[in-house]
Amino acid sequence: MAKKDEGIITREDFDAGPSSCNEIEPNLYLGNLTAATDSEWLKREQITHILTVDSCPLPRKIQTLPDITLKYIQVTDMPREDLLTYFEDTYQFILYSLERGGKVLVHCYFGVSRSATLVIAYMMKRHNMTFTTAFDAVKKKRRFVGPNPGFLAQLKLYEHMNFSVDNTNIQFKLYRLQIAADKVRKAKILPQNYMDLVKADPALTTVRPEPTVYRCKKCRRIVANASNILPHSPKEKQIWRHVSIKKGNDKTLPKQIRNLQMPETAAKQQQQEEAKTVEMCNKTYFIEPLAWMPDITHNVEGKLNCPKCNSKLGSFSWISGCQCPCGSKIAPAFYLVPSKVDWSNAVQNVESTI
Ligand SMILES: [Zn+2]
Ligand SMILES: [Zn+2]
Repeated sequence: MAKKDEGIITREDFDAGPSSCNEIEPNLYLGNLTAATDSEWLKREQITHILTVDSCPLPRKIQTLPDITLKYIQVTDMPREDLLTYFEDTYQFILYSLERGGKVLVHCYFGVSRSATLVIAYMMKRHNMTFTTAFDAVKKKRRFVGPNPGFLAQLKLYEHMNFSVDNTNIQFKLYRLQIAADKVRKAKILPQNYMDLVKADPALTTVRPEPTVYRCKKCRRIVANASNILPHSPKEKQIWRHVSIKKGNDKTLPKQIRNLQMPETAAKQQQQEEAKTVEMCNKTYFIEPLAWMPDITHNVEGKLNCPKCNSKLGSFSWISGCQCPCGSKIAPAFYLVPSKVDWSNAVQNVESTI
């Protein structure tokens, strides 16, 4: 058997024998693969729905059982795997089953990290609980639950977004960019299902143009909206990158989540609270990928030139990222050099500069 790493739960940690399952709340079960493949047990417990989150689907003998509805999500137990975008879907699956008087088993391989994450996310939304309360409630019923550090951060982000996915949330944008960067690292191309990360060209926006924009200093073409800016603080350590390196060290996470600046739409109170402690860096303007940037979907790095006058405005790098003079290392990075662009407000936006 493999050596037992600190903080990693192995099969020897289970005291319930090979099949392990716990009822977290009435008719909602959390367990391991052995439980999910025990057809006798499934029958005895009258399980009607199984949610599988694992690297492979359940064997045929379970798939062909009558009267059991299955849902399968292919995710491995790695901190940089994306579970957050499935939360809504799995919530609906569990809720639907329970509301129809069913019994749901949520499982992964050990019933410790992936499946526990989905059950905790369900509890948070269903009962309007904080992450900590939901985690404690699940842990009370299954003492060895332990989402990996990446999933913990995703659950906290879920709480921060009020139990839904908010595409305008800056932390969510950063989260998805980093997930996409991992795909680019492997495939050398941005997969089709991440194309929504490339935002519309702000110079072509005719519906509700934003009051504050960034323009090419030389030719005045609009190159970014204020909402495209991804703010960072000096010497920032990126949370999603961080969790994959310092596995098991969760103590530093909450502070880092707080340290990322909120978008304008976020609660004012939180903003004021943060304004006291967080000073934002303006030595480099990190922005979202934009439709005017050529080659970003099929190159890992390159220059960003003004689409109108071709002067160099900045660069992009999916994998190595960019080191800001403030000490922050941001990856992936799409950035404009402040000396190459001008900030301007609505009054100057009347003219069209496409
Ligand atoms: Zn220009
Ligand atoms: Zn900086």
